[in-house]
Amino acid sequence: MHVETLTVGPLGCNCSIIADLAAKQAIVVDPGGDYDDIRARLDALGVVVTAIVHTHTHFDHVGCTAELQRTTGAAASIHGGDRFLYDALPEQAALFGIAAPERAEMDDGLVDGRALRAGALEMGVLHTPGHTPGSCSFVVTDATGTLLVAGDTLFRGSIGRTDLWGGDPDAILRSIRGKLLALPDDAVVVTGHGPSTTIGHERAHNPFLRGR
Ligand SMILES: [Zn+2]
Ligand SMILES: [Zn+2]
Repeated sequence: MHVETLTVGPLGCNCSIIADLAAKQAIVVDPGGDYDDIRARLDALGVVVTAIVHTHTHFDHVGCTAELQRTTGAAASIHGGDRFLYDALPEQAALFGIAAPERAEMDDGLVDGRALRAGALEMGVLHTPGHTPGSCSFVVTDATGTLLVAGDTLFRGSIGRTDLWGGDPDAILRSIRGKLLALPDDAVVVTGHGPSTTIGHERAHNPFLRGR
């Protein structure tokens, strides 16, 4: 697999392009903004976007979904548990003092256990509620190893906040313990903001996960 992560949008959301370069196909995760930067990388790689997916539906993770969808024709998906957040985009953006992103044709296609494809790559969907009710994480495994895209559920040395709409501090710990820490220690974790990490590093050092 080929993975590129760009920091985009008003709050520095990590947007990932996960590609099968031989098949010239890619999945884009969390196009939070800076459409031109994302487009430039897609063009440089020469890939067709087969799906646009979102770890959750805070406004900073969906900032240029509409633009990307318009130019790729790809389906754009969230988990149904976050539908109310997509409907409340103007209120979300207003809280942070920015203009609401344009609305995309967003479907509720992210379901736990579903697999999305780009060429030979298969990306599994894990429903990992807590940061938001519809938060999801994505797992890709191939000969090079395991990649986890965790969104704002897990950070290097921290976990996602649960004080926003629908956040649940017990649920986020259940999600991390039950689904993310089940992955191998050498699984690379792309987080929603800031640096990447590994499952092993977080299992050993994350203060929010001690004794879990
Ligand atoms: Zn968030
Ligand atoms: Zn975020």
